[in-house]
Amino acid sequence: MQSERTHYTNQITPEMGSEHVTIAGWVHEIRDLGGIIFALIRDREGIAQATLFKKTTPAELIGAVKSLSRESVVTVTGEVKLEKKAPGGYEIIPEKINLLSKAASPLPMDTTGKVDADLETRLDSRFIDLRRPKVQAIFRIRHHVLQSVRSFLANEGFIEVTTPKVVATATEGGTALFPITYFEREAFLNQSPQLFKQMLMSAGFDRVFEIGPIFRAEEHDTRKHLNEVTSIDIEASFTDHNQAMQILERLVTHVYTEISTQAKNTLKELKTTPKIPEPPFERLKYTEAIEIATTRGEELVWGEDLTTAAETIIAEVINETTNTDHYFIIDWPTETKPFYAMPQETKPEISKAFDLMHRNIELSSGAQRIHNTEQLTERIKEQGLEPEDFKSYLQPFKYGMPPHAGWGLGLERLLMTLLNIENIRNTVLFPRDRKRLSP
Ligand code: ATP
Ligand code: MG
Repeated sequence: MQSERTHYTNQITPEMGSEHVTIAGWVHEIRDLGGIIFALIRDREGIAQATLFKKTTPAELIGAVKSLSRESVVTVTGEVKLEKKAPGGYEIIPEKINLLSKAASPLPMDTTGKVDADLETRLDSRFIDLRRPKVQAIFRIRHHVLQSVRSFLANEGFIEVTTPKVVATATEGGTALFPITYFEREAFLNQSPQLFKQMLMSAGFDRVFEIGPIFRAEEHDTRKHLNEVTSIDIEASFTDHNQAMQILERLVTHVYTEISTQAKNTLKELKTTPKIPEPPFERLKYTEAIEIATTRGEELVWGEDLTTAAETIIAEVINETTNTDHYFIIDWPTETKPFYAMPQETKPEISKAFDLMHRNIELSSGAQRIHNTEQLTERIKEQGLEPEDFKSYLQPFKYGMPPHAGWGLGLERLLMTLLNIENIRNTVLFPRDRKRLSP
């Protein structure tokens, strides 16, 4: 590069005195006030002001700055000066400005935040939308969340694994799969790493986690559904559903605490203060949940999944009575849950499955799993599925499978609730939904 960057904009401090620096970034805005020109330069870490005085700055440099189009990429070299009114408390008196890449105009979208575009327009021009500090802040937090999930689980003895996303059969026998062509055969994009995680329990890995994509071919068009999701999945041997819930509530609390203490400035940018939960979270029985919904006018039949309206009522009541956002719904009817969820010994119509909720958003589903081949085969049949289709899945259960439990936690749902973001699409760089396949 012609001029090497010496500092990010946030590394320059007023106390540095009259040091010479080079910053590199995008032309955020040029403000020509007559006798003085302000060139605002934006990099990943913030905005710096380059100040040119018409009387003292060489005419050539003035001309170069005036001709800069917004969002062009430049380096600016100059002397640092204390200036209380400038962003960061300093300004740069430029001696040299290098244009590295000229941006065409008009821009597809405003980057200064002065004009608010709707979500679809923003996603169409995502490359430029992502230049906005407020938008980038979400992905800073996403990075922090992933880091803190990884360190928490590794500390708890979980081994990170990655499993295939191209698979031959459905995890849950559902129809919600994207078929793909795999040479001369049909294959699918995996909807969950469930079956692989369980195989690893038979293999003696004891505790595994995976952070990876899952695909759901559901025709939802809601604020909380995507067709490609990043799932945080764990599976643990010699562990029951209660222990799995404890790991989950401690993980969520850990993430909230880490973000709140280590990403303060980024949270400020997003104007939000996460409410750190306190374990143990409330545990609401499915039966209690439908009672609450029914007394508030949402009729529900035992054995059915909760409706969105019911979830909203339940969330309100939980929030009114306990002042918390996070709670578990436990003791789900066996028929509402996947075949691999373990039924309770004394009441087999109730399963050892749970959902973790944040208000009316489901964050995670989990369960203790069946580890007995005969029982598993029975449950596959009861759900109207063909045991034959699950032959390779069932195989490991015959040769020594420890009792185990686990859950899947949607990263985007975790982020949207953590940051109080209305629409899940905001938490993904390039979301995939019913209508969107590019960029
Ligand atoms: P929902 O009922 O909310 O559609 P689900 O019960 O079908 O979710 P699970 O199969 O239990 O989802 O998946 C585990 C977790 O993965 C969910 O709790 C959620 O956090 C996340 N998840 C699943 N499907 C989606 C989706 N389509 N969009 C966003 N997140 C999802
Ligand atoms: Mg679920």
